[in-house]
Amino acid sequence: MSIADWKKLSEDIKSAAQTCGRDPADVALLLASKTQPQDVLVPYLKAGHKLFGENRVQEAAEKWGELKAGFPKVKLHLIGPLQTNKVKTALEIFDLIETLDREKLAESLSQHDCKIPCYIQVNTGEEPQKSGIAPHDLPAFFDFCTKDCKLGIRGLMCIPPADEAAAPHFALLHKLAEAHGLTQLSMGMSSDFETAISFGATEIRIGTAVFGARRPDAS
Ligand SMILES: *Cc1c(COP(=O)(O)O)cnc(C)c1O
Repeated sequence: MSIADWKKLSEDIKSAAQTCGRDPADVALLLASKTQPQDVLVPYLKAGHKLFGENRVQEAAEKWGELKAGFPKVKLHLIGPLQTNKVKTALEIFDLIETLDREKLAESLSQHDCKIPCYIQVNTGEEPQKSGIAPHDLPAFFDFCTKDCKLGIRGLMCIPPADEAAAPHFALLHKLAEAHGLTQLSMGMSSDFETAISFGATEIRIGTAVFGARRPDAS
C-alpha cells in the first residue's frame, strides 16, 4: 500500500472516465485519511495530492492544522457525521461538508455563518441506521437549506447499502442531483468506483485501497 497504489488508482480512474466518454479532469479522487497519522500522509502531500476527507472533527483539527499550513493548496472535506456542538471547529478546518443530513445541522451551520460549500447526504437505501435525507424528503430539505438557511449546496453524497448492487443507488443520486440543478456527486468507493464514474460521480472516496488498513486503535 503506497504511492504506487495511488498512482495506479489515478490511472484506473482516468481510464474509467475515458471509457464512458467523460473528461478525467471531472472526476476527483478524495483520499479518506481517517486514522492515518501525519507521517503516512506527508508522502502523498509531497507527491501533489490535494483532496482529503476526514470523518471526525477533532481528529481532523489535530492532524490537519499543521499539515494545511505546510500544504496550503490542500482541500479537506468532512465525510463523517457532524454534531452541532462541533460546527464551529468544523468550519475552521474543513473546506467542504459532505454530510449535511438534517434540519438542525443546517440551522446550526447557518447560525455560524457558514461560507463553505456543502453536499447533502442522501440515504438512497432508506436504511434506518444510516444518516442522510430520504430521497422523497430531498426537495423540501434542499429548499430549507438554500432558502431558509442560505447555505451553498453544491452536490449530493451517498453511501449505498453494503449488501446491494450500487448501480441503482448511483443512478438515483444522479437523477436527484439533476432535478435540483446540482453538479457535484460524491459517490463510489474502492469496490465500485468504476460504476460510480459511469453514473456521473465527480468525486470518489478511497481509503484503505491506498493507505492500507486503518489503525486499529481508532474507528
Ligand atoms: C472511510 C470512508 C471511505 C473510504 O473507505 P475505505 O474502506 O477506507 O476505502 C469512503 N467514504 C466514507 C464516507 C468513509 O467514511
